[in-house]
Amino acid sequence: MNLGIAGKTALVSAASRGIGKAIAIGMAKEGANLVICARNEAGLRQTAKEIESAYSVKILPIIADLTKGSEIKSLIQETIDHFGWIDILVTNAGGPPSGPSLSFSDQDWEYAMILNLLSTVRLCREVIPIMKKQGWGRIVNMVSIAAKQPLENMVLSNSIRAAVLGLAKTLSQEVAHENILINSICPGWILTDRLVSIVKKRAETHGKTYEKELAELTADIPIKRCGTPEEVANLAIFLASERASYITGTTIQVDGGLVHGLL
Ligand code: NAD
Repeated sequence: MNLGIAGKTALVSAASRGIGKAIAIGMAKEGANLVICARNEAGLRQTAKEIESAYSVKILPIIADLTKGSEIKSLIQETIDHFGWIDILVTNAGGPPSGPSLSFSDQDWEYAMILNLLSTVRLCREVIPIMKKQGWGRIVNMVSIAAKQPLENMVLSNSIRAAVLGLAKTLSQEVAHENILINSICPGWILTDRLVSIVKKRAETHGKTYEKELAELTADIPIKRCGTPEEVANLAIFLASERASYITGTTIQVDGGLVHGLL
């Protein structure tokens, strides 16, 4: 299938590793030019180099902390200065810490809200007016199955991800007639650095080895394995494509069947 995104400009936030990196690589495979951001300069430059050497697309790496409104504004301005437009926005970020629900301070809650909810608000607020001028746009939000089915010891994610879905659905209804389509992806357990640290922390809490904890987590997944970042990226790239032209306001999990609910 020709996804129709060759030559388009895709901004993938938090893309130095993990799911964001896999999405950036997938976009490059389809011929989209890229802007990627993260806080860590070395990791970001390394990812940009890997993509540049494997695919003949233009890539602009920008150091940006998604918890800072001013850095999000500069990220968008630099993208426009360099490429002139933004066709595709993937709102990805790091995840909030895990821990017992009552252990988090106001500061922890505020940080998680800024990282996962406000960063999405800010990115959309900057990018949607640009997409309106173009009469074409795709936004894909990276959320979590925590928004559909609360996860043990993950109250920050369980609470704040649901708010991102509220934002995405509301915006999708407001801009659909302008050919700007907004969808959200809920990854289940995907083998990345983040999952390794979550499983290590759980193993410590439960007094088990990392291997035992990972095996137990995997046993609960109907497909009986964790997902790969590429498996999440495949859906993100389709939703960002010309071929997803009648899909907006949806929330789709990529979770090997882990969510037990009907919707
Ligand atoms: P990861 O930790 O492997 O990668 C996170 C990326 O975000 C890195 O590139 C990091 O540099 C960047 N980042 C973190 N904080 C940032 C900030 N303040 N500003 C800019 N960049 C920042 O994570 P991942 O597993 O790829 O997860 C990506 C997203 O998907 C996270 O929000 C995560 O919570 C969510 N998610 C992951 C899983 C999973 O099992 N891996 C499951 C559900 C949801």
